[in-house]
Amino acid sequence: MTKKFYEKTRKERLDFLLEQALITVEEYQLLKENAPLSDEFADHLIENQVSQIHLPLGLAFNFVIDGEQRLVPMATEEPSVIAASSYGAKLIQNSGGFQTKSSERVMIGQIVFRAIKNASQLIAQLAKEKTTLFSVAAKSYPSIVKRGGGVQEVYFKQVENEAGEAFVTIEVLVDVKDAMGANIVNSILEGMASYLNQKFPEEILMKILSNYADHSLVQARCKVKARDLARGSNFDGKVVAQKIVEATNYANLDIYRATTHNKGIMNGIDAVALATGNDVRAIEAGCHAYASRGGKYASLTKWTMDEAGDLIGELTLPLPVATVGGATSILPQVTFAQTISRSKEAISLAKVMVCVGLAQNLAALRALVSEGIQKGHMSLHAKTLAAAVGATEVEVPILVKQMNQAKQMNQALAETLLAELRK
Ligand code: NDP
Repeated sequence: MTKKFYEKTRKERLDFLLEQALITVEEYQLLKENAPLSDEFADHLIENQVSQIHLPLGLAFNFVIDGEQRLVPMATEEPSVIAASSYGAKLIQNSGGFQTKSSERVMIGQIVFRAIKNASQLIAQLAKEKTTLFSVAAKSYPSIVKRGGGVQEVYFKQVENEAGEAFVTIEVLVDVKDAMGANIVNSILEGMASYLNQKFPEEILMKILSNYADHSLVQARCKVKARDLARGSNFDGKVVAQKIVEATNYANLDIYRATTHNKGIMNGIDAVALATGNDVRAIEAGCHAYASRGGKYASLTKWTMDEAGDLIGELTLPLPVATVGGATSILPQVTFAQTISRSKEAISLAKVMVCVGLAQNLAALRALVSEGIQKGHMSLHAKTLAAAVGATEVEVPILVKQMNQAKQMNQALAETLLAELRK
């Protein structure tokens, strides 16, 4: 019988990917060698480099996105993330896969003036400068204009603190094409600010990109047939679907639950972001802020049921991700991750990520409202525990089997079992 992908050894998995023409010979070599970055290279990336941390890179399957089968690269240290993501995607695949859409894709930069005496007067004066500001911006970063991007719009707003002190903020909307855009936007803001400094006596407090990327939204929708949610005779599919809806509604009532609900969504998104060299901190900041857009921190996903009792899922996120610039073009595994996920354009990668988030949330909620999360999680966690106490490749499966039979699983048990095995 042919082994499933997760049952194969690493070498067998790589051979399979090559045989299926999912990777090239060069990619096969790159993955097989697993070489760390050269010291010189790592030194260029960060400051005070003393070593490197390695994370496993895996692949999630079953993602049919807008009718196209996509493989999803994920880098994470957390067991069960990739398994859950593939499982959620499989349930969704059975009902036709994911449908996605996206808004415009622009990043926002802010120039903030402080201690303003007459805010509406300053805003009126700034508005007269709009055309000049556009051309100053274009001169500050001409290459993005050549690529068809650059400043799209400029807005002005007044913000007041509790003491009544006023700020005036210019919000600059920039089309950054396939980049994440932090450096592009910041360079444009620098150029605009130095022009404004010459023209206006008011003091500029700061100029910086905003990570609240609500003009770079992507949405995934899916359907899951209720019957696919059934778990043996214990859990009826329609009941599981109802409970998934109820669990999501509960998250909207309780921040303690909403935070964990959304953390589960980000498990998958962060893993894809890491694998593709994206700025995980920027994505996290934007998504959690977006969860509070209604004035209260809430669930990022929406789950409802249709007339047939099937589950309908939706996830909308700000995903300012990149397929060029930053670390994306320099790390060799990142190039592989982009190729295997067929994400040449940033918007295409963002769509993969939002689907991963929805699949991850479905798998987590289905487990939570039926047999509980620990059953699946702990058997995978057993592998981590066995490896953590120093079990060899031969010893790991023996320890995992023994731990799965035990009432409680922890590091002390793994140590005891290993010692007994080696007696
Ligand atoms: P870069 O500074 O690397 O700029 C993008 C680069 O990609 C440019 O050199 C551009 O070339 C090139 N490029 C090639 N093809 C394209 C294309 N199709 N579309 C757009 N650009 C293209 O990166 P970003 O400006 O994207 O900044 C991202 C980095 O900034 C990340 O590493 C992030 O961590 C970091 N950062 C994040 C901050 C935050 O989140 N608040 C703050 C500061 C930095 P060309 O020059 O010819 O146009």
